[in-house]
Amino acid sequence: MPGGANLTKCHLLRLNVGFLLNKDVGYSRNFNFEESSLLIGDDLLISDLRGSARLSRTGQGIYIKGRLQGNIDLDCVRCLSDFKQILSAELDEHFDYPSARDSDPHLTISDDAILDLSPILREIFLLDVPIQPICRVECTGLCQVCGEIITEEHQSHPEEEIDPRLAVLKTLLS
Ligand SMILES: [Zn+2]
Ligand SMILES: [Zn+2]
Repeated sequence: MPGGANLTKCHLLRLNVGFLLNKDVGYSRNFNFEESSLLIGDDLLISDLRGSARLSRTGQGIYIKGRLQGNIDLDCVRCLSDFKQILSAELDEHFDYPSARDSDPHLTISDDAILDLSPILREIFLLDVPIQPICRVECTGLCQVCGEIITEEHQSHPEEEIDPRLAVLKTLLS
């Protein structure tokens, strides 16, 4: 497919499958995906997206099976720092062509033979986003006294520092 590499680069998730639709049932071809940063839909920014998928011609359209993964920026609910979470998506879908009346609009191939993976991929990736993101399982969060992230170097505080208000009270009392 001359110029195919460029086409894939510009519209990474919009695959022109015209050539595949002209093949016999059973014909298949692999697609590789690699992009440093990609906005899927209006709101899902994925970095380091990579993966591959096999597209096969079926009697009713194209069957796609593959695996993609990428990173998303999230804020840790414990220590509040931002971190990259790996998201992965297993693709195992059938795209109808021509689209039947009862086809899922996310899983149809347009009349000009464009198979757009964005809607389904966005859906699968979003399911993989944790509701309570944690930067790492052992994240201990923020110190309640000084507000710093608790690391191995973090020293526990002398008792009088635990609550500054209490310390003031102590001074007043003595
Ligand atoms: Zn954390
Ligand atoms: Zn502290």
